[in-house]
Amino acid sequence: SPRVVIIGAGIVGTNLADELVSRGWNDITVVEQGPLGMPGGSTSHAPGLVFQTNSSKTMSDFARYTVSKLLSLKEDGQSCFNQVGGLEVATTPERLEELKRKRGWASSWKIETRILSTDECLEMYPLLDRDSVLGGLHIPTDGLALAARAVQLLIKRTTKAGVRYLEMTPVTDIERSGGRVTGVTTSKGSIPADIVVSCAGFWGVEIGAMVGLPIPLLPLAHQYVKTSSLQVLAAPNKASNGAHLPILRHQDQDLYYREHGDRYGIGYYGHRPMPVVAASLGNTPENVSEEHMPSRLEFTPEDFQPAWEASQKLLPILRDAEITDGFNGIFSFTPDGGPIVGQHPTLDGFYVAEAVWVTHSAGVAKAVAELLTSGRSETDLADCDLARFEEVQLAPAYVSETSQQNFVEVYDILHPMQPKASPRDLRVTPFHARQQELGAVFLESRAWERPQWFEANAELLDDLPDQWRPVDRDVWSARFHSLIVAVEAWKTRTAVAMYDMTPLKRLEVHGPGAGEMLQRLTTSDVLANSKLATYTLLLDNKGGIRSDVMVARLDDESFHVGVFSPVAMDYLLREARQQSRRDGPRWVQVRDVTGGTCSIGLWGPLAVEVMKATNSIDIAGLPQHGFCEAFISGVPVLAIRLSHVGELGWEIYTSAEFGQRLWDVLWAAGQSYGVVAAGRGAMNSLRMEKGFRDWGSDMTTEHDPYEAGLGHLVDVTKQSFVGKEALVGRSERTSSRRLRTLTIDDGKSMVLGKEPVFHEGRPVGYVTSAAFAYTIRKPIAYAHLPGHILNGAFVELEYFGRLIWATVTDNPLTNVPARRERP
Ligand code: FAD
Repeated sequence: SPRVVIIGAGIVGTNLADELVSRGWNDITVVEQGPLGMPGGSTSHAPGLVFQTNSSKTMSDFARYTVSKLLSLKEDGQSCFNQVGGLEVATTPERLEELKRKRGWASSWKIETRILSTDECLEMYPLLDRDSVLGGLHIPTDGLALAARAVQLLIKRTTKAGVRYLEMTPVTDIERSGGRVTGVTTSKGSIPADIVVSCAGFWGVEIGAMVGLPIPLLPLAHQYVKTSSLQVLAAPNKASNGAHLPILRHQDQDLYYREHGDRYGIGYYGHRPMPVVAASLGNTPENVSEEHMPSRLEFTPEDFQPAWEASQKLLPILRDAEITDGFNGIFSFTPDGGPIVGQHPTLDGFYVAEAVWVTHSAGVAKAVAELLTSGRSETDLADCDLARFEEVQLAPAYVSETSQQNFVEVYDILHPMQPKASPRDLRVTPFHARQQELGAVFLESRAWERPQWFEANAELLDDLPDQWRPVDRDVWSARFHSLIVAVEAWKTRTAVAMYDMTPLKRLEVHGPGAGEMLQRLTTSDVLANSKLATYTLLLDNKGGIRSDVMVARLDDESFHVGVFSPVAMDYLLREARQQSRRDGPRWVQVRDVTGGTCSIGLWGPLAVEVMKATNSIDIAGLPQHGFCEAFISGVPVLAIRLSHVGELGWEIYTSAEFGQRLWDVLWAAGQSYGVVAAGRGAMNSLRMEKGFRDWGSDMTTEHDPYEAGLGHLVDVTKQSFVGKEALVGRSERTSSRRLRTLTIDDGKSMVLGKEPVFHEGRPVGYVTSAAFAYTIRKPIAYAHLPGHILNGAFVELEYFGRLIWATVTDNPLTNVPARRERP
């Protein structure tokens, strides 16, 4: 097996060693700068509360795996998990609603939970203040990880299996040659390696710097205290760290609680963010103790004062106690709260698994071990992929601001559409000024400003035919939404609209080996037709969908490739680099041209009239998926006849300096045809009506093309492509689950995504996308459902605790003829 060096013997590094051993790898060295008995990182003082439920399926899956693993990790009959359950209490009506939403996620991710009344909360947790608590969410399988003990047992178990552990051995450099890691340099010499995985926790930035890899995490101090002993806890908790009550969260005040025998432990996120530079902490001492370790800073009692008052209110028993021990403990925060997992983009064999909570540690380690040993993780990694950040998001100032914001918001109630308040306007498209003139309401994604709708279209609300009028929304689903979206949908289906498609990534794939590479990586024959672009899929080696892509062959050695995420771009860049190294003359270069170019989707039944009005006859005559390079009123463009909304039209690309002129030319030509600017609100609705899938929600690496209803994109006659072997014998007919469209029966109840779907009372799936379908005047949703749930079946969706009936339909509403009306 390959030689592996793992940096860091915290909960992540030791779990990774264990997961690799269990997969048969046997040449593993774990290098730790501190003493192995207590290495001094975040794990050494982690109180270990494990609340499994998260808005992310991936994170919840990681947590569930961590719980099961720690339960099975035993010595002397005692496991490393005290499954006391979890209780999250609400002290405000908003939080009570939020807990119902959270219960929905839990059902979606197969975690058992129950909403409790005030009485039930008090029955379960008699120390709570009855007057404060409005209700709660109980999660019976949550509990306390004995993280430091788990590390010791994992070290013992893996040492027996042959893993070498080196303590008091800081890694000072990463050795490399020819684009690959070759080893690590330590204070005690060099260790050769084929694979190096940094599990260095909040020291990850320093390790990343050794290989020129910006790691977007910020170490922040977080307060944790222990109280004096309390009689009421002493009797039930004999052991000094024992606990019998559920772990408790009081998120309205940024607080959480556990018992340490007869004392309470209290963690607080309500204080000011306190960033730390790991490099400034100095060397780890030879003798780390509970009180002295690099990840533990001096307590600042004034920051804790509000927490103590709020705690005494929620748990009146604390009025008899005092704080006897406190510290400001350091751990990692990231711009979006997710961990950082993946391979260096240009240094093969160098991986990271950082910014990981104890809660997710074994799950992350399993995923990394799968990635290393089989090339893919069973769990989709998009939410934690190192490659998910765009370059601008790696800037230290961006990482610092957004990670601090993430600390502040860690227990807040966040709407799924809620954009960052700051930093904003980092990336604007060449149409920005025009969009502002039209009153664009911008949301933010990957630092791009993207119009959601345009206030200028409000004047058309009076013209909106009755059958296009939206229904009233509840307060939650009405946030970040406007009635104007209906106007933009109507205009797209009946006249013509302009969409800013610039933020979708565009790549130039170029070189003598470009065609060969794309042919190898995609499910379709992308070379078959030089006049048509190909909508196709990138799969992993088990047939999971890495991304959908649009490929246009501009000439024998040059391709325009549209991808939908930086993760897919990272994959193509890596493949190109590796092919170029392997096969010199068949080199390939992948260039991200997104920022230097821009794109307009001109879509609608009258789009062709607009195109003719610009005298762009070549473009106007293109067949479906046909493309050409041409001029529109003197602006050099590449146009592909395709749409994301299921209407006639083109995606039109030009370089950034021509963007505004392109917008103006199309806008002027469109005036006679009632053109509007339209935003992503309309686009999401229209694409769902027509059955278009979004990568990252409707399809991920956990789905194959047949499950996603995209079997028609798989060319089984093609000689070979990545993932082909795994698909042998599979088909839409044999899939055990399929992506289905659900129409909401009452015609008005909205869902937003991630809600659980029940069939005959049993959870069978979750909503991947949702929208109001204006064309049929009903809300719709997508969900992957078991194959036995047939068309016409009734299912229920749970939205804030309320059940909503929906009907399963086979294919989307593609057969619904779009209504064509002249403006
Ligand atoms: P660490 O435990 O920090 O391990 C990284 C190791 O790498 C360290 O031992 C370090 O010495 C070593 N290392 C670093 N650089 C080098 C180098 N150059 N050479 C060799 N070795 C190196 N999480 C939860 O899930 N639940 C909780 O209730 C919880 N409570 C918390 C409370 C506090 C006060 C704090 C601070 C954190 C809490 N966390 C909690 C977070 C959790 O503790 C961490 O996210 C987790 O322990 C990180 O594990 P790790 O293995 O990645 O990092």
